[in-house]
Amino acid sequence: MLCRFLSRYCSQSKAVGSSAVSDVATLAQALELKTQHKAYNSLEQWLEDRDQWKITQPATALLGEGVPVVPVTHRTLKTAVTDGTHLYVNPQWSKMLDDASRRFVHAHLIWHCAANHCRLPSARDERRWHLACDHQVNTQLLQLGFELPMQAVLFPACIGKTISKVYDWLADNPLMKEESSLDELPWPSGERQDRCGPKLNGSPEAGPLRQYWSERSFRVVRAYAGASSLPAPVASWLLAQWPD
Ligand SMILES: [Zn+2]
Repeated sequence: MLCRFLSRYCSQSKAVGSSAVSDVATLAQALELKTQHKAYNSLEQWLEDRDQWKITQPATALLGEGVPVVPVTHRTLKTAVTDGTHLYVNPQWSKMLDDASRRFVHAHLIWHCAANHCRLPSARDERRWHLACDHQVNTQLLQLGFELPMQAVLFPACIGKTISKVYDWLADNPLMKEESSLDELPWPSGERQDRCGPKLNGSPEAGPLRQYWSERSFRVVRAYAGASSLPAPVASWLLAQWPD
C-alpha cells in the first residue's frame, strides 16, 4: 500500500515539478514518509497489546485507552519514556524485546501516569527517585499478573513502603549501582532537556494532567475494583495516589 502511495505521490509531483531540484526534494519527502511509516509499523505490536488487554487486563486497557504511542528514532531516546500525555518509544529498542518484556514496559509507563509520577520530584537524585517509583509501579504490576522481566526493578524488602521511604532505603544501598530502569525518567529531566534531543511535547501542564489522570484512575477503580484485573489492594493504592 505504501509503495502504491509513494509511486502515486512521486508521479504526481513529477507532473507538476520538472526541475531536478524538486525531484530530489520529492524523493527526500518520500523517503521521510517511508521512514515514518516503518517506525509506526514497528510499534503496531504496542497497539495489539492494548487490544489483547481489553480481554486479559481490562483495567490497564482502560487506563491506557487513547494515550498515543509515538516512535522516536532520535539517539537521545534509547528505550521508552512517558510525559503523561504520550508514550514515546525507540522502535529499534522495542524490536529487541520479547513479548512479555514489551508488555511489561508498556504497562509500566501507563501505571507511572496513573500513579502521578510524571511530575518533577523534589528529591535531588532523580535516578534514585525513579528507581523508587519503578519499585512501586512494579509491585502493582506483579499483583495484576504481569510477567516481570529479570531486570525489572523490585526490592522485596521495600514492599508496602512509600516512595520516600524506598528512596531513603536506597541511599546507601549497594543495589543502587546494580539496578537500572528499563524506561527513562517519567518527568521533564534537566539532562534530557539540555541534550539536543527530540522535542517531545514539552512539559505538560501539571494541573490539567493531574485532573486527567485522577479522573481516569477513579473511573477505572469504579469499573474494575475487586476484579482480577484490579485487585482490591491495587485499587486502594491507586486511589491513595490522588488525595484531595
Ligand atoms: Zn519507570
